[in-house]
Amino acid sequence: MPLLVSLQLTLYALLWMLCGIALKDQRAAIVQWLGYALTSAAAAALLGWRPDGPVWLTHTGSSAATLLSLILASRGVLLFLGLRPPDRLFLAIAGAAALGFAWVGPHDTDARVAVMAFFNLLVLLGSFSQAATRFQSEFGARVSVAATFPVLALVGMNAYFLLQGLVRGGIDIVGPGAVPVATWVVTLVSAAAFNFLFLFLVGFRMQQDLRHQASHDATTGLPNRRAAEQRLQLEWDRSVRYGKPFVVISADVDFFKRINDQHGHAAGDTVLIAVARALQNCARETDHVSRFGGEEFLILMPEAQAQADGVTMGERLRQAIAGLALDSPAGERMALSASFGVSGWLATDSSSVDVLRRADHALYTAKEKGRNCVVLRAE
Ligand code: GH3
Ligand code: MG
Ligand code: MG
Repeated sequence: MPLLVSLQLTLYALLWMLCGIALKDQRAAIVQWLGYALTSAAAAALLGWRPDGPVWLTHTGSSAATLLSLILASRGVLLFLGLRPPDRLFLAIAGAAALGFAWVGPHDTDARVAVMAFFNLLVLLGSFSQAATRFQSEFGARVSVAATFPVLALVGMNAYFLLQGLVRGGIDIVGPGAVPVATWVVTLVSAAAFNFLFLFLVGFRMQQDLRHQASHDATTGLPNRRAAEQRLQLEWDRSVRYGKPFVVISADVDFFKRINDQHGHAAGDTVLIAVARALQNCARETDHVSRFGGEEFLILMPEAQAQADGVTMGERLRQAIAGLALDSPAGERMALSASFGVSGWLATDSSSVDVLRRADHALYTAKEKGRNCVVLRAE
């Protein structure tokens, strides 16, 4: 049985290694899980080496490796969730456990297992309490219940061993009997549940990241043109159905080429990021701000009137951009402004492209009028 578990954990280690090679983004957590799989495989292999191997390895070594594997697994979970692992606490636990193991020696199984179970419980409960809320908010209640299952199984098993060790119940997990079999089944099943759950979550998060990348601009973090067009279509459908107008504001940074030429492309990018943030800060939560092209942004305002809301918002955005105080890498203040074209949905429009075309036309007029202004094209 120990060798079977060891083999199973070695296979997980192999899977994590492949994952780590393929996925750069989540490598910090994956490396911890690789370490966890290797140390727990070693712990099981050392158990299987009994009674031939040296007792400090097959007994103390295997208990220490089990504790270490739990610390690594927990660090992996916390890093995966973007939380900072409590490494000082983990170090203190490892140090105290080492002293405990040295003190009780390899032969007193009850005392040694009680030491291991006590520190295992500290690691399990400490990490679980730190990770639970974040885990639930990212992956939802159902996945959280699935993740709780292996933790609960391990907590139950370690609590049992701690009690048995304290009352000197004569712990034996390698011989025949119900307790050894139960121990190995819990170990096998909880390891399978843990590894497959997190392999699945790594894949799930990768898919989420890809979806985000496909719909967002890497420089500013704003939704990209594709996302804006999808949103525009949605607003269009809603307006046609309910007869409620929406507003489109097309914004374009003035003389942006000059900024690039005078201060460099990196300074240009800094300007784009600052403009994006300023636009987003002015917008309401229901508005949709996107990077539509190079230095062109689109603001979509649902349930808004072009004349009343669009022009007011355009003016607010114009002032926000003109008020940006940004210095070039050489320390010169960069003069910044943007032009705005506003248009609203009309019941006579035949598609969302009509609204967009009017906003573009208005923007063109704003440029012609000398830039740094807002122009409405009502029809
Ligand atoms: P106007 O006032 O008429 O809008 O003039 P402009 O210089 O802003 O417009 P033009 O279309 O001539 O130049 C836009 C420039 O934006 C050209 C292009 O090199 C630059 N650009 C496009 N995308 C990016 C980007 O991601 N980063 C940087 N730094 N520059 C970009
Ligand atoms: Mg421009
Ligand atoms: Mg442009």
